[in-house]
Amino acid sequence: SLFEYAPAPESRSVVDIAPSYGLFIDGEFTDAADGKVFKTVSPSSEEVLSEVAQAGAADVDRAVKAARKAFEKWSALPGSERAKYLFRIARIIQERSRELAVLETLDNGKPIKETRDADLPLVAAHFFYYAGWADKLDHAGYGPNPRPLGVAGQVIPWNFPLLMLAWKIAPALATGNTVVLKPAETTPLSALFFADICRQAGLPKGVVNILTGYGDAGAALVEHPDVNKVAFTGSTAVGKAIARSIAGTDKKVTLELGGKGANIVFDDAPIDQAVEGIVNGIFFNQGQVCCAGSRLLVQESIHDELLDSLKRRLSTLRLGDPLDKNTDIGAINSAEQLARITALADTGEAEGAERWSPACELPSAGYWFAPTLFSNVTQAHTVARDEIFGPVLSVLTFRTPDEAVAKANNSQYGLSAGIWTEKGSRILAVANQLRAGVVWANTFNKFDPTSPFGGYKESGFGREGGRHGLEGYLAPSHPKGER
Ligand code: NAD
Repeated sequence: SLFEYAPAPESRSVVDIAPSYGLFIDGEFTDAADGKVFKTVSPSSEEVLSEVAQAGAADVDRAVKAARKAFEKWSALPGSERAKYLFRIARIIQERSRELAVLETLDNGKPIKETRDADLPLVAAHFFYYAGWADKLDHAGYGPNPRPLGVAGQVIPWNFPLLMLAWKIAPALATGNTVVLKPAETTPLSALFFADICRQAGLPKGVVNILTGYGDAGAALVEHPDVNKVAFTGSTAVGKAIARSIAGTDKKVTLELGGKGANIVFDDAPIDQAVEGIVNGIFFNQGQVCCAGSRLLVQESIHDELLDSLKRRLSTLRLGDPLDKNTDIGAINSAEQLARITALADTGEAEGAERWSPACELPSAGYWFAPTLFSNVTQAHTVARDEIFGPVLSVLTFRTPDEAVAKANNSQYGLSAGIWTEKGSRILAVANQLRAGVVWANTFNKFDPTSPFGGYKESGFGREGGRHGLEGYLAPSHPKGER
């Protein structure tokens, strides 16, 4: 196998884990047609991790053809047979989760504590969950005998490389579609490892194809005439470009885009619990989370007390080596993302918001950004409006529930929100008025494969997760594969 199973991956060197890899097309690892490769680096050390094939339009075409061919047999399998493969994949993910966690942390920069305890368990859970649906699609709510769409072209970002892959691939395969997936250019490795897991599970050739590469390969994939379904997670700008490029075709599309989540804390909230939720909301994965609680809306009467507690808590966070299991804050994924965060934070300061960070030493190599808090923020400030996608929290205040709702909804985005209060009736009243796809109450960033996830407004459309996540891959009235 490409990635030999090793019981103690921590003892292996980086080079052992990730040397040089090809594209995964029709069940084989292969070079790009034009022989192009690109390097991946560890965001925490800037060390080169591996060299990876760079897909071009010819490779996209080859992969789509392989997926189209595989579709005939895969979609004809009884759901119970497809389920067996998905269950097997889920089990192998669990068995190899230590390797995967290390690889993901090396490639992405996120703390191993998170990859081990959040990403990997959720990845396996998604495959188990959708395996369970594969033979029950008649009960999915789309009429009897719903049909798969055909070939799914899937493009994902770098913030949760393997989890985004699971969100995309598990429902696609359960419903009988085949897949060509392009991971983000800064985090291709866990997707290639997953390709090896597909081989290990005996998944028929061509059912899953992985194309590592840049945005041009993503564009060629979504525009390919033989791709029936486009599933994209990433920035709003690229999501809009994709929507434009496929307008007028009969491709079905789901877009999961950016966010500027409001975390609303009422004066009756348990402060300590809320502080933990706020920290988790914006500093989990260095804030590189589409549904991050990046706007803190605090009821005026508890503003000072909450801010003091929050600052004390931030001073205890440990930033550093992502492979150290005590690390809370890892590296930013890329130099480009670090530059984006830095520029937006500088703008916040220039516009007059009050900037604060705990004392912490940043490692000399790698891409790092200290946890940052902006207070005295108004709705007009850039840091209150733009998605920063980094460990930067903007604090605003409100007096009444109506004002909290108005401020929370005053955003081009509508992906997530949080409500902190002891009053159950207030949770329901406020949640019903929020234009956000996910609303958490007295918790934040809690994920489960059974729950639908997706946005309002410029956060995209369509839902992934839960029964709703099947809809984007099913055509109730179309005959198999015909378009
Ligand atoms: P990005 O849009 O730059 O890239 C995402 C993916 O699209 C990458 O694989 C990239 O190579 C590819 N791509 C780039 N240009 C393309 C094009 N023209 N056509 C097709 N594919 C193209 O986003 P990013 O910087 O990797 O990720 C961060 C963004 O993703 C943030 O805005 C974040 O909010 C969003 N995100 C959303 C969700 C969600 O579920 N809503 C989840 C995670 C991340």
